[in-house]
Amino acid sequence: MTLLKVDDLVVEHRTPGRPVVRAVAGASLSVAAGEVVGLVGESGCGKSTLARTVCGIGRPASGTVSFQGRPVTPLGLRRRDPSLTGIQMVFQDPYASLNPRRRVGDQIADGLRTAADTSTTPADLLDRVGLPREFATRYPHEFSGGQRQRIAIARALAARPSLLIGDEPISALDASAQAQVARLMRDLAVESGAGLLFISHDLSVVRLIADRIAVMYLGKIVETGRTDEVWADPRHPYTRALLGAIPAPDGAGVLPAELPGDVPDPASPPAGCRFHPRCPKVMDVCREREPEFGPVACWLHEPA
Ligand code: SF4
Repeated sequence: MTLLKVDDLVVEHRTPGRPVVRAVAGASLSVAAGEVVGLVGESGCGKSTLARTVCGIGRPASGTVSFQGRPVTPLGLRRRDPSLTGIQMVFQDPYASLNPRRRVGDQIADGLRTAADTSTTPADLLDRVGLPREFATRYPHEFSGGQRQRIAIARALAARPSLLIGDEPISALDASAQAQVARLMRDLAVESGAGLLFISHDLSVVRLIADRIAVMYLGKIVETGRTDEVWADPRHPYTRALLGAIPAPDGAGVLPAELPGDVPDPASPPAGCRFHPRCPKVMDVCREREPEFGPVACWLHEPA
């Protein structure tokens, strides 16, 4: 069953006196129940904007987002649509996402109240994320980054989500905690039948946990497929470059020499294929026409 469907989504950032920044420029993806989808790409490619829009934080300029068949409405001044509590997010910064003045058990209990769950306790959820039950009475400053991220996961799980979104949830953690937290998110989502959209720039971790992978570049999904197939045969030149990246000790990776430069400014994206100024395989058509097809948005792989 498809839980999340994102269709041709466009999200723009508007600042008076400055050009419109199209952070998401027509992206489509889906997540099914019990499925783990890894969304990967360099910083600034629009992954986090897409995730926030899926949660209702941010308004699409066009395109649609639906969750369990119902449109996701942007968060306004009124209360969040109760059906959207089925989407829970774990954020990048475990130091900012927990309230420093409240005991972690009280923060987890908020989620249990949202789900009207009276049979589970905060200590039960700490147990599920691999932390001692007695941590419920402590405050966030008493914990390491990895422990805090486990607490954030426990808090998200308390609301009994059908869809869990991790927005770079491991990038602020020590290398030793990254794979553990990623695997924990996968195991907890799958065992409860929920879907997981796991956003990361670290392909090596995504490979460990994702059933499917979507590669994003400058606001667009440029390649999608089963993780094992994409890993064995990456077809988009950008995917090939990402897979060729050498993992650095901080997990950030180093792009290979044939992929020079940074992601261009989304306020003035290149004409034609957005990747063409950096692509080692660029052809004339790439500079003129955008490859608007899938599963590999590249003129080298135009469908018959
Ligand atoms: Fe490279 Fe052209 Fe494919 Fe874009 S369309 S990735 S420039 S070969």
